[in-house]
Amino acid sequence: MKRTIMHIDMNAFFASVEQQVNPALRGKPVAVIGSNERTVVTTASYEARAYGVKTGMTKYEAQRLCPPIILVAGDTSRYTDTCRRLVGIYQQYTPVVEVYSIDEAFLDITGSILLFESAVAIAHCIKEDIRRHFGRLTCSVGIAPNKLLAKLGSDMKKPDGLVIIQQEDVERLMEPLPVNALCGIGSRMEKHLIDMGITTCGELKRASIHALRGRFGIIGERFKLMAQGIDTSPVIPAGQEPDAKSVGHSMTLDKDVSDTETLERHILQLSEMVGRRLRRGGYAGRTVTLTLRYHDFHTVTKRNTVGLYMSHSIDIFLVAREIFYAGRLRQPVRLVGVSVSNLTKHLAQIPLFRSDRDKQAATRAMDEINNRYGDFCITWGTLTERYHHKGVISPSWRPDGIKYVNLSVQKPKRKIDTVTRKDGSNASRNT
Ligand SMILES: [Mg+2]
Repeated sequence: MKRTIMHIDMNAFFASVEQQVNPALRGKPVAVIGSNERTVVTTASYEARAYGVKTGMTKYEAQRLCPPIILVAGDTSRYTDTCRRLVGIYQQYTPVVEVYSIDEAFLDITGSILLFESAVAIAHCIKEDIRRHFGRLTCSVGIAPNKLLAKLGSDMKKPDGLVIIQQEDVERLMEPLPVNALCGIGSRMEKHLIDMGITTCGELKRASIHALRGRFGIIGERFKLMAQGIDTSPVIPAGQEPDAKSVGHSMTLDKDVSDTETLERHILQLSEMVGRRLRRGGYAGRTVTLTLRYHDFHTVTKRNTVGLYMSHSIDIFLVAREIFYAGRLRQPVRLVGVSVSNLTKHLAQIPLFRSDRDKQAATRAMDEINNRYGDFCITWGTLTERYHHKGVISPSWRPDGIKYVNLSVQKPKRKIDTVTRKDGSNASRNT
């Protein structure tokens, strides 16, 4: 059966939500930023984009390009709440809805077309529902035989677009298309392809499979298919995602910190955030990774694998702290990150020792209270002085609270250290 996939991309999502709730912002150049001193623009309204303001710029760059710009500190719960309500609208048209990011979703409408006459009719109904519920929010919709082409379609017309890509048009459309228009080919991959003399999908399609495989491995084969507009990946509804490979959080600090006690407190806070997400998803993990980014953006990542699966925040913290003190602080730190990998699901073990059973009961009670009254409502005394970042939400946010940080398969290793150097222009966002 011929598949019909729809990709919905909300236009300037965070900025539009802010303009929706605050009429004083409407029609004006607005940039949504984090509350942190070193924050970057996460979304600019179309009025601000006209001045050249883009995602990823610092607020100073944005102000220089667009002096009348209004900077608004992002409100994560407002966006996640709007996202949930949008998904509720999509689900009225098909049960097969995949939340791809906070402002994007794929819908498999193959089975719903007969009910609503046509794919285009469904798109119009969804646009109308969004207008009715949210007034000023608009979306760009792409309709195509697969996810890759649907996403390409929604990218082609913004804002408020509707683009239909038919199978018979695919070849003509793809031939001159630059390779970086394909979802999954970022600037790094693009550079590799340019090195090989490949800039368009047409050239990628004709490239030798051996050369591509040699350079990119198995993904090289996928690139060749993508260049022909071929993509068989299914739309995966919430709850049916593959298991997470790792769960992590990081925070960029307001000021560089070299005080170990303060850093230890940040590590405890991050361990609790990671632990909470692990427990919510029913996960436990054996590998803890600590990331420190120094003042000069030099980034050090160290991990340690232990014998037992952990989901208690305190256990994660103890491993992360051990890693922290095993190393030496070279410079003041600007970013701290904790993640847990080597995960397993549904580890229903009853602790053998009384002390562990007590710890489990205490954790459970804390989780229940925090679920009900908000994160960190009950926590360790040390964290009453915790770091408050009115966070900028990660683009990979999912409604079930589990983020697929790293989908590469990790080989379990005893202990490895990796050091990477990150370019300063690529400022990390708080998650
Ligand atoms: Mg968008």
